[in-house]
Formats: sequence, structure tokens, C-alpha cells
Amino acid sequence: MTMHTRSQTRAPAGRIAYVDGRYVPHGGATVHVEDRGLQFADSVYEVLPVRDGMPLDEEWHFERLERSLREIAMPMPMGRGALSQVMRETVRRNRVKLGIVYLQVTRGAHRRDHPIPDRQVPTLIVTARGMDANALAKRETNGVGVITMPDIRWGRCDIKSTGLLPAVLAKTEARKAGCYEAWLIDEEGLVTEGASTNTWIVTQDDVVVTRQLGNNLLPGVTRKGCLAALAGAGINAIEERPFTLKEAQQAREAFVTSSGGGVVPVVKIDERTIGDGRPGPTTRKVQSLYRELEGRVANP
Ligand code: PLP
Repeated sequence: MTMHTRSQTRAPAGRIAYVDGRYVPHGGATVHVEDRGLQFADSVYEVLPVRDGMPLDEEWHFERLERSLREIAMPMPMGRGALSQVMRETVRRNRVKLGIVYLQVTRGAHRRDHPIPDRQVPTLIVTARGMDANALAKRETNGVGVITMPDIRWGRCDIKSTGLLPAVLAKTEARKAGCYEAWLIDEEGLVTEGASTNTWIVTQDDVVVTRQLGNNLLPGVTRKGCLAALAGAGINAIEERPFTLKEAQQAREAFVTSSGGGVVPVVKIDERTIGDGRPGPTTRKVQSLYRELEGRVANP
């Protein structure tokens, strides 16, 4: 029988995961069969970019993690300082220079019963993995296509929950269509966000638009970083408001942001080419501002 060498369940030799106080070989890292993260998606997570071997924007990610946890009445598994150490150690042990660190907190293992148990002992999982620098650069330079899908998610997308089935289905359709992302459209025809990114357009009048925060989308850390970087560069033509799919398709430029991918130009939405089909000047400006921000944090 042929073995798939790139199987998703087998880890490359030497990969290490952190689970509940222990660093273990990734391939053998497990949680309890009645872990509530597994049974109910009763868990939240964070993904941080790693640049030059350092997790970026830790404080912003901790803020969002604490907020997600608060909203679902779950305690922090440990303080920020200890969590930071675990993430850095996981990155170090996996020898990740460019990549991501993933952190998940579940409500722990309990006899299966829906209500939140009185006594909560969270499960903490941290993993790290490298990214293909060439693939990243290619996306940044050439841009990507996206498809659109109805937004069928729940009413609290501001909580970074691992209940990601709608995103799984949307991303699968995107992948099948040869696209990077699926933009999610609400019942009023407005773009909420991507399945795993925040969405942006640049209007014909050169205004940068991204949807305002609310219960229906994730407060992206990259989104926050880009807004701060734009303001810092004195670019004030920014509007935080919803936009329709039609407005996006008629926009001069479009892009998406996420910790995993950075700032990725969108050159096609469904069958419609955006602008001249190449990343535009404003998107490239945001990319360079964000890279500067990354560089500063990684090399303080
Ligand atoms: N929106 C959704 C639904 C996401 O899953 C993500 C990231 O995974 C983002 C937006 C981007 O957030 P961040 O920039 O914090 O990675």
C-alpha cells in the first residue's frame, strides 16, 4: 500500500505540540474523548503570525482571547506571561522562523452534558508550523481570486470559536473553484468577511473600506494593525462600514487580511475581475505598511 508522505495526520519528524503542561511529539498529542472542545466546539482559539521566530502582536491576541473567553464564561488557562512563554517555547522547539503559532483553549473533559459544568479545568493546546515563503510571496505579488457564499454562521462571529463548520464548507468550495477564499454575504447582500479573513475594498474615489466591527464578524488583529498603520501613515480616507457585493465588484481594488496570510490582494470576485486584474497601489501600500509594522514587532 502506498503511504501518503504528506498526510495531514502525520507530523514531520521532530514536530512538537504543547498539551496541558507537556511538550509532546505532535503525532502522539491527544485530548480526552469527552473533551468539550471535541464534543461541542466549546472552545476558542488564536492564530499568531511568527516572523523571525517570534509571535507577533501578542498583546492584541491576548486581548481578543480574553474577550472570547469572557463572552463564554471560560477562565484563562494561565496568565499572559506564562502563555507567552509556552507559545515562544513551542515556536522554538519547532524551529519555526516564518509561520504561525496556534493556541486553543477548551472547557476541558467532562461527562457529556450541555450546560457549563461548575468546575472548569480548561485544556490548553499550542502548536506551531512553518509556512512556505514562496507561496506567501506569490500570493502577495499576484493576488488571488475569491468566490462568494451565503453567510450561514451563528450570531456571535466576534467570538473566535472553533465552531468552524460553515468556514470549512465555504473554504472547500473556494478550493474547488481554485480560489483562496470565500467572501460571506449576509441576507441584505452585504459582505460580512471572508471565511478566515477580513475583507477590504478601495473605492473608485480611493477610499479604503472595511466593515465595522459587530457581532457578525471577527475583530481581526491584522485588520486592527492595518487600520493603525494607515492612520500612522496619515492616510485618512478610511471608512468602517458595510459594502455590498456589487460595490466590491466595481471597486478599484480589494484585499483580505489575516494573521496566517497577511495582506492578500483580491483580483477576482466570482467571475468579475477587480480593477485591471493586478494588485493596485493602495493594496501594495497597505502591504508595505503592514510589513513595516511586522518588522518592528519582530525586531524591536
Ligand atoms: N475573520 C475570520 C472569520 C477569521 O477566521 C480570521 C482569522 O482566522 C480573520 C477574520 C482574520 O483575523 P486575524 O487578522 O486576527 O487573523
